Amino acid sequence: MVILDGKKVSNDIKNEIKQQVDKMKGKGEKVPHLAAVIVGNDGASLTYVGSKVRACERVGFESTMVRMSNTTSEIELLDKIEELNQNDDIDGFIIQLPLPPQINTQKVLMAVDPSKDVDGFHPENFGKMALDMSTFIPATPFGILELLDRYGVETKGKHTVVIGRSHIVGRPMSILMGRKGFPGNSTVTLTHSHTKNITQITSQADIIISALGVPNFLKAEMVKDDVIIIDVGITRVPDDSSPKGYIITGDVDFTNVSKKASYITPVPGGVGPMTIAMLLKNTLLAREQRM
Ligand code: NAP
Repeated sequence: MVILDGKKVSNDIKNEIKQQVDKMKGKGEKVPHLAAVIVGNDGASLTYVGSKVRACERVGFESTMVRMSNTTSEIELLDKIEELNQNDDIDGFIIQLPLPPQINTQKVLMAVDPSKDVDGFHPENFGKMALDMSTFIPATPFGILELLDRYGVETKGKHTVVIGRSHIVGRPMSILMGRKGFPGNSTVTLTHSHTKNITQITSQADIIISALGVPNFLKAEMVKDDVIIIDVGITRVPDDSSPKGYIITGDVDFTNVSKKASYITPVPGGVGPMTIAMLLKNTLLAREQRM
């Protein structure tokens, strides 16, 4: 069994990006600048944005964190987005989700200039991805592709089962695994909360990509021998013995499933760090496209 070590691979990617940024600096060029907008005080969102800003610093990017209160109106947020769209110094920006209930997420994501949409959530970029055109691929699916690529995990002709159909992970992942190319060329089954007899489906899978957010959902009896497991789930489970008062848990019963798997991502240290590395990669791409 091989652990797909997202921490190590993401560090490799960050080092590669840093080298490119150093070259840009050496030539006197502008370095990539990422902005992150966060609305409200959600603890997990603040942690994620903090990690993204620190990652920018590490590779030599400029970064800006835009904090807005929980009571921000949709118009105020749309105005801020327009400001970032127009700001020539900003190469790419993200709106940290979830947004408070008074704000229509779809409307907000559609307001982002597609050329600065480094999360790849704008319909124009999503459509390009679905048509195999060059674009910003959403960071989490992009990170999973990169992990499979760097470990040389064969996906051609394999049956890939994706659990969860969110717009940011499951749905794009199902499209990408079925596209022509590597990683891809899989036969894909996309499952969700209305899927019947999910065990019957997962037990036939060569590759399972789980993104539902239910701790330890995928058990050893639901998978076949030599399965390849990508665990996207990140859930904070209360735990008094941990200094933070919670532990991060994936969707997969790692202890038992790993005994049957040929490759598996750990949680934490698997898909999570890859997501941040690929956001940096998309930001570098955005800068290069603006030169
Ligand atoms: P989400 O929007 O929370 O949606 C969950 C999906 O799971 C939905 O499509 C839902 O089906 C499906 N689902 C729920 N119960 C199910 C069941 N019993 N059987 C099959 N499918 C079921 O998903 P998300 O935003 O993609 O997040 C999923 C998990 O990934 C969360 O733990 C999140 O924290 C984590 N995540 C991690 C990263 C990372 O960087 N590692 C990035 C993003 C998200 P319906 O559509 O029918 O409701």
